[in-house]
Formats: sequence, structure tokens, C-alpha cells
Amino acid sequence: MTARKQPVDLWANAAQGVKNRSAGLCECRGECAEKVCAGGRCVNRHQVRALGHRGAVAFLTVVALDKDRGNVAGSNLRAYCQWCLG
Ligand SMILES: [Zn+2]
Ligand SMILES: [Zn+2]
Repeated sequence: MTARKQPVDLWANAAQGVKNRSAGLCECRGECAEKVCAGGRCVNRHQVRALGHRGAVAFLTVVALDKDRGNVAGSNLRAYCQWCLG
């Protein structure tokens, strides 16, 4: 029996890569509906208190833009904070 990479492992590896790429910074560039991001990029950092959210701590999540976790191309992945996640 050969050990094959399951999609979940591919996703986990890719998600970790995106977190490294983002250096803890939300990768939203204004595409969400948040007022603080409109016209610019999000300034929230992973596990750092966010501006304008009553001191709540930002938490980044990696998402697939096309909702397909099998598509782990870097261009399809973004690290978003919980407010940009929508
Ligand atoms: Zn954000
Ligand atoms: Zn945003």
C-alpha cells in the first residue's frame, strides 16, 4: 500500500505556506466589505488586537478564493482575518 497525499494534507501544507507568506498580516486588499479596508489593505495581524473592533484579537484563516480546497495554487489562496472573511 502506497502512502498517498490526501487533499487535506495538501490543503494544510498550502495553508501553512500562505500563513508564512502573509507574515501574519491579513491579505485583504479592500475586497471585503469592511470599512477599514475600503480603498486599502487590511492592517490586522494574526493574534494582535485589531483597530476598530473593540480591542478584539484578529485571527487569520486561509481561504480558497474559488472555494475549492483542491486548488492550492498560491494565487487562489488568501490569509484573511475574521472580519475580512465575511
Ligand atoms: Zn482583514
Ligand atoms: Zn478587508
